[in-house]
Amino acid sequence: MSHESTQKIQLTVDEHSVTATNGELLIDILYREGIKIPSLCYSPGLSCTGSCRACLVEVQGSRISLPACEITVTNGMQVTANSEALEKDRRVILSMMLEHYVDSDFDASSIEHTELGYWLRRYELTPTLKSQKPRFSADSDPHPAIRVDLNKCILCTRCIRACNDVQGRFVWGLSERSDNTKITAGMDEHMLDAGCESCGACVAYCPTDALSDRNAPLGLETDEKVMTTCAYCGVGCNFDLNIKDGHLQYVTSNPHAPVNGMHLCVKGRYGFDFVHHPDRLTQPMVREWLLQGAERTDKNDRGKWVAVSWEQALDIVAQRFSRIIDESGSDSLAIFSSAKCTNEENYLMQKFARQVIGTHNIDHCARLCHSSTVAGLVASFGSGAMSNTMADVAEQSQALFVIGSNTTEQHPVFGSMIRQAVHQRGAKLIVADPRNIDLTEFATLHLRQKPGTDIALINGIMHLIIKNDWQDDHFIKTRTEDYETLSESLSKYTPEYVSQITSVPIDAIVEAATILGTTKPMAVIWAMGITQHIVGVQNVLSLANLQMLTGNMGIPGAGVNPLRGQNNVQGACDLGCLPNVFPGYQQVTNPDSLSKFSNAWALSNRAQLFSQKQGQTITEMVDNSLTGSIRGFYILAENPIMSDPDVNHVRQAMANAEFTVLQEIFPSETADYADVLLPGVTFAEKEGTFTNTERRIQLIHDAVISPGEAKKDWVITAELAKRILAHRQQKPVGSFANWDYQSAAQVMDEIAALTPSYAGVSHARLHQGEQLHWPVKDKLHPGTPILHVKEFSRGKGLFHATEHLSAKELPDEDYPLCLTTGRVLYHWHGAEMTRRSQPLLALYPETLVEISLKDASRLGIDEMQMIRIVSRRGYMVARANISDRVPLGLIFGNFHFPDQANVNNLTINELDPVAKIPEYKVCAVRIETDI
Ligand code: SF4
Repeated sequence: MSHESTQKIQLTVDEHSVTATNGELLIDILYREGIKIPSLCYSPGLSCTGSCRACLVEVQGSRISLPACEITVTNGMQVTANSEALEKDRRVILSMMLEHYVDSDFDASSIEHTELGYWLRRYELTPTLKSQKPRFSADSDPHPAIRVDLNKCILCTRCIRACNDVQGRFVWGLSERSDNTKITAGMDEHMLDAGCESCGACVAYCPTDALSDRNAPLGLETDEKVMTTCAYCGVGCNFDLNIKDGHLQYVTSNPHAPVNGMHLCVKGRYGFDFVHHPDRLTQPMVREWLLQGAERTDKNDRGKWVAVSWEQALDIVAQRFSRIIDESGSDSLAIFSSAKCTNEENYLMQKFARQVIGTHNIDHCARLCHSSTVAGLVASFGSGAMSNTMADVAEQSQALFVIGSNTTEQHPVFGSMIRQAVHQRGAKLIVADPRNIDLTEFATLHLRQKPGTDIALINGIMHLIIKNDWQDDHFIKTRTEDYETLSESLSKYTPEYVSQITSVPIDAIVEAATILGTTKPMAVIWAMGITQHIVGVQNVLSLANLQMLTGNMGIPGAGVNPLRGQNNVQGACDLGCLPNVFPGYQQVTNPDSLSKFSNAWALSNRAQLFSQKQGQTITEMVDNSLTGSIRGFYILAENPIMSDPDVNHVRQAMANAEFTVLQEIFPSETADYADVLLPGVTFAEKEGTFTNTERRIQLIHDAVISPGEAKKDWVITAELAKRILAHRQQKPVGSFANWDYQSAAQVMDEIAALTPSYAGVSHARLHQGEQLHWPVKDKLHPGTPILHVKEFSRGKGLFHATEHLSAKELPDEDYPLCLTTGRVLYHWHGAEMTRRSQPLLALYPETLVEISLKDASRLGIDEMQMIRIVSRRGYMVARANISDRVPLGLIFGNFHFPDQANVNNLTINELDPVAKIPEYKVCAVRIETDI
C-alpha cells in the first residue's frame, strides 16, 4: 500500500472537521460519519457510475453541485452535504426517478423497508399507485427464488454491477434506449437461461424491490435481525436471519460480515426454509420392542416407532450402552460426531466417547473429505490446516493454482473472490481438473489431467521448475529439510513421461511450470479432487513440496489452501473428533496428553478412562459392525447411508448393528437403521461457534423457536452423559469432569483450558467482534491469520518423495467408463437440508449424471434420458446430462438424492493407507439403457 493511500487528511463537512484517508471517496466518508444523503446508484463494494446524481453535494471552489460518489477527497476540502438548495435538487431528482415507477404492492406503512422507500418518505414523495397502468408484468421471471418487477426499477444499475463485480456472471444488462430502457437478463432471456447462479447479489443491492426474494413477503415487518454463520460450507459466510414470532422468515446480507460482506451463494441466501420443514423431528422416538425390554428379532425389520418422553429415551440409551460396555468393552461402541454441529458440541461428543464410554472410537465426515489433507500437512509442516486466509489469497496472490476444487460450486463465495482476482487485478489462474468446471472459463490455463494422476502432474511441474532453476534456494536452505530426496525423485518426471500418464499436453505442462515457478506470491487451492484417492496423502505431500520448493509459504497471497467442505469440519477436527487425537491435535498415544485428559476428566470408580491406542475410523467402524465387533452406534447429525462409499455395504453393516442411536433434525436415510431417534435442532436454534476453512472462529446464535420437544444437541449429549455416568455409578472428580454446563460459552471456556490452539478463545471476545483465527495462544493473543511465517509448526518443513500410483479400479472391458463424483451448486452433501428447501429443490430437482456427447452418441443416449449406471458394487438410475464438462470416457455423478439415485451405490471402498479416506474420485462403471 502506498504512503499516499494511507495518509490521514482533514476536511470539513457541514462545518465539522472530519478525518479521512487520502484518496477515499467522499460518499464513504459521509456514510461513516452518519451523514445521510440519498445515493441510489452507489453502494459500497460496487464500482461507481455517478449516474443517479441523488448524492449531490457542494464543494468549495466548484461552480456546480457534484455527486459525492465521484469525489475523491483531498486535504482541506470543504463540503456542504446539507443545504436548502441541495434538498430541493434531491427532491427533483427523486421525483424524476418515479416517472416510470409503478408500485403495485405499495403500502405506506411499510414503505421504508426498501432504500428508495426510505427516501420517498423522507422527501414526502409518493410512488405511482396500482391504479396506473404498469409497463411490465409484476412478476416477469420464473426464477424460483427471485421475483422480478421491472415496474419498480429506477435504472440505478446496481444489479448489473453486483452481477459483474461481485459474482462475475454478467447476467444483467441494459437494453433498448430512452424511455424504453430496461434491465434485461442476457439477450432478453429468463435469468437462469442467461447463466444466473442464483446468488441473489442483484437482490441484495437492489434499492427498490424491483428484484426481491420471492419467498419473503414484500414489506413484512420482522421483529429482529440476528447475525449468524452459514450452516453449509466451510467459507463461513455471515448473514442476518430475519425473525418474526420466533420464526425464520428470510435471510439478508449483513454488510459487516467479515468473510463475505454483502455476498452470499444460493444456499446461504435461499436455502434455509428447511428450518421449519414439517419433517422436523419433534419428539424422541424408540422402536416398540425397546419399550418391552426385548431384543430385535428380525435383522431386516427394526419394527415400529413409538414416541416417548426424553426420560424414557435417555434411560433406554443409558441401559443399552452400559450393557454393551459390560459385555463387550468400551471399544464395541462407535461414536460419529458431526461437522454440521458447533465446536462446543463436537468437544462434548469426543469427551462423551472418551470419558463416558471409554473409547477413542470417535470420528466424523472429515474422514471422508480431508483426512488426507490433515495427515499430509502434518507430515510436511506439523500442522494440518489452511495456511492463509481467503481474503489474502483473493487480494494478493499473483498466481492461483486450483487443483481438484470446483470452487465456484462448492465454496461459491470464495469462487467468486477468485473470479474477482482474475477480472479485477489480472491474477493468473491455473485450473487442474478433469472436468471443464465453471472456473476454467476464467483460467489462464486449464490442465485436464486424467482422474487419479495428480502426483505425476505436480511432480512434472516441479521437475521443470528445478530444471529451469526457478526454485527458491534461500527458502529451501533456511526453512526446509530433505530437499535432495525430493529433487532426486523428480528426475524421471519429464514432460513426456508426465504427459503419457496424465494426458495433459507437454506445452501445457511447460506453461504451468513457467507460471507457477516464476510468479509470486502463488497460492495452491485444493479440495476433494486431491484428497479422495488411495493416494490422497501423497497428493497433499506433493502440493506441500511445490509450495516449499517455490518459497510460497508464510507470506500473504500464497500458502497451502485446502478448502474444508462442511461448515464446521475444521472445528470438529480441531476439537478432537478423530480417533487419534484429543482436542488441539494432542495425540492419544502421547503419554503427556493422555495423563492431561485423564486427570481433567477423571471419574470415581474408574482408574483408567481410556487406552493409549488410537480408535477406529468411520470406515473401520462400519466394517466392524458387519463382523460384530462394533455392536452399537451413537450418531450425531451424520448420514452414512448417503455419504459413505459403497452404500450397499454400509446398509448391510448398519442393519447388522445391534443398537443405534441417531440424533438428528430430520428422519434421514440413516434413521431406517436406528433404534432411538433424539430430536436435535438446527444452527438457527442454538448458540456456539463454527470454525471456517481459514481457521476463523465465529459465533452462531439462538434465534428461532425449536419445534416440539427438540433440544439443543449439546444439552442432549450432556444429559445422556450424566445419565450413563449415574447408571454406572461413576462420579466426576477431575477439574473438567462434570457435565453441568449452563451455556455453550461455558463449554468454550473448558475447551480453552485444555486446547492450546484455542487457549485465548472465548464467546465474550467473539461477541466484541474480535476476528480470531487459531492458534489464539492466550486471552490477549490476536490470533494467527497466516501460519508458518517464521518457522513451520514442526520447525523445518519436510520434503517427501512421492510417486504416481494408478487408481485401484480403472475401466476395463466389462466396465469401460471412469466414474468420478462430487456435489452440485444447489445441494449439499447428503442433501438432508437442501432437499427440504423449496427454492433449492426447484433449481435442481433430481440427480443428473454428466456424460460426454461422444459417449452419449455411441451409446444412443438422448439428453435427459433415464439411464442405469452399474459398477461392481451396485447401480444407480439417473437422467443423462450430455455435457462438454466431462471428456470422453468419464462420467460424473452426485450423492444428493437417495436410494437408486445415489452415486455412492457405485463408489469403491478402497482406502488411502494412512488417512483411510475412500477413493470416491475413480471407479469403473458401465451404462445400461434398457430401462
Ligand atoms: Fe454458505 Fe458457503 Fe454459500 Fe457462504 S459460500 S453462503 S458459507 S454455502
